[in-house]
Amino acid sequence: MLLARTAAAAILGTVMFAGATRPHATPALRMAQMIKAVPTDKKLIAFTFDDGPNRRWTPQVLSLLAQHHAHATFFVIGQEVTRCPDVIQSISRAGMEIGNHGMHHRWLRNLTEEAVKADITGGADAIVAAGGPRPYLYRLPAALADDAARRTLGALHYTVVSWSIDTRDWRRGTSSQRIAQTVMREAAPGKIVIMHDGPAHREATLAALREVLPALQARGYRIVTVGDLLRNSQFAAQRAIPPAPTARKPKAKLVRESRPRSVFPRDWLRRIG
Ligand SMILES: [Zn+2]
Repeated sequence: MLLARTAAAAILGTVMFAGATRPHATPALRMAQMIKAVPTDKKLIAFTFDDGPNRRWTPQVLSLLAQHHAHATFFVIGQEVTRCPDVIQSISRAGMEIGNHGMHHRWLRNLTEEAVKADITGGADAIVAAGGPRPYLYRLPAALADDAARRTLGALHYTVVSWSIDTRDWRRGTSSQRIAQTVMREAAPGKIVIMHDGPAHREATLAALREVLPALQARGYRIVTVGDLLRNSQFAAQRAIPPAPTARKPKAKLVRESRPRSVFPRDWLRRIG
């Protein structure tokens, strides 16, 4: 229950704050801020892709985004990052944003503080080891966290990014038309779209993306990262948002690493995040 809202939370309106709720709580005990949309007059919409990186699907998503001069935030799973660090480098070089989605996609509830911390910092360390920037955004696997986990995320200075347009593209049999219709019907300034670039079949996601990127742009929207949304809101006054990543020229040769195929934890298949 929200006991008190911070002044900043009141200013931010539709930004949902799950934490910083006790008036006299020390900063270390504050829960992480939860964001599902950012109030803005500008026609900006953020796209996010979860559960990658994936050697097959992520490059195709990157190519579509580049084709339309669009940007997005990729919430990557640490264990996948260690399998294809070169894909992290491609995301980074393309000027996209990388967020933390945990080391093993663990649901952050009923875990010890050590286990929560290990999954969060493991995910961040994997990104850095692969050559990406240290992430300041986190997305909860399956959108689940108990208060203790939210406090840990707060202590680690993460902003937790939820979503306001759920394409449900992870559902088996979801058509590209359905995904595209959801995005176009619910599009509004400051909203955050969730899609997936791993690990299962993503043909429908790609087909929908091919349709919605130009359609949104025809309506006057710019497709941006979550960081871009935050930098264009009052949120930027509260905390330092790192500058936008800039696209870099690819190196002559990518380092490729061959590892066994991804093995997700059993509970991953039941996740919604
Ligand atoms: Zn996920």
